[in-house]
Amino acid sequence: MLGYVGIEAVLDQLKIKAMKMGFEFNIMVVGQSGLGKSTMLNTLFKSKVWKCTPPGLAMPTPQTLQLNSVTHVIEEKGVKLKLTVTDTPGFGDQINNDKCLRPLDIEFLQRLCRTVNVVPVIARADSLTLEEREAFRRRIQHNLRTHCIEVYPQKCFDEDINDRILNSKIRDRIPFAVVGADQQHLVNGRCVLGRKTKWGIVEVENMAHCEFPLLRDLLIRSHLQDLKDITHNVHYENYRVCRLNESHV
Ligand code: GDP
Ligand code: MG
Repeated sequence: MLGYVGIEAVLDQLKIKAMKMGFEFNIMVVGQSGLGKSTMLNTLFKSKVWKCTPPGLAMPTPQTLQLNSVTHVIEEKGVKLKLTVTDTPGFGDQINNDKCLRPLDIEFLQRLCRTVNVVPVIARADSLTLEEREAFRRRIQHNLRTHCIEVYPQKCFDEDINDRILNSKIRDRIPFAVVGADQQHLVNGRCVLGRKTKWGIVEVENMAHCEFPLLRDLLIRSHLQDLKDITHNVHYENYRVCRLNESHV
């Protein structure tokens, strides 16, 4: 180039447009009732985006799989996020899902990861010892590999060496062992989100206690746009092609 053209100004334009329009993000939580899905949504967005099951309340077993969605607009430092959360009460309630990937989970995950980006987590990690967490994580990783379940971030979409380095670290830690909480407590003069127990407070944002910060960083701070791009460019495109093919037969 012979001189300055000003192409970089497009970055400011994009920023102004994004601030004005806001952006959208859809998230669905899947798993047995009582696992902490609704609490996790509230923990992620630090607001009551979903009603939680009150403790001790017996959960009726849903007859059919219902999908419930709600949309909220969340604003932080002038950036608007139109967040749609979908809860799937009842998945796996009728079967014994005793801490391992049963045939139904495997079949479900195999189909799900072809349709959306799947980020598996170990819920209620405060109920596991550190050894149990690690053993559970290795077992899930092994099952995902043997059944060819490609969870997010998928290796084939790493674009360069930096993606590969960052994403392999994430792949190694997935599923993150997380704890959810929507109550704040005072710890050493700081207000922290956590679960108060007789033996102390499990702080959700403290890496010494659980891996919630890794999940939050992945979903919101580092990979949100990539999650949306893959959903749009890969999953939605595959879906569109399938529907077009169906309509031609
Ligand atoms: P959902 O049915 O999967 O949506 O579960 P909820 O979010 O409604 O939570 C069910 C119960 O589990 C509530 O009493 C929550 O306070 C509790 N809970 C949620 N997350 C955790 C967690 O990480 N650890 C523990 N010990 N309990 C949790
Ligand atoms: Mg719920």
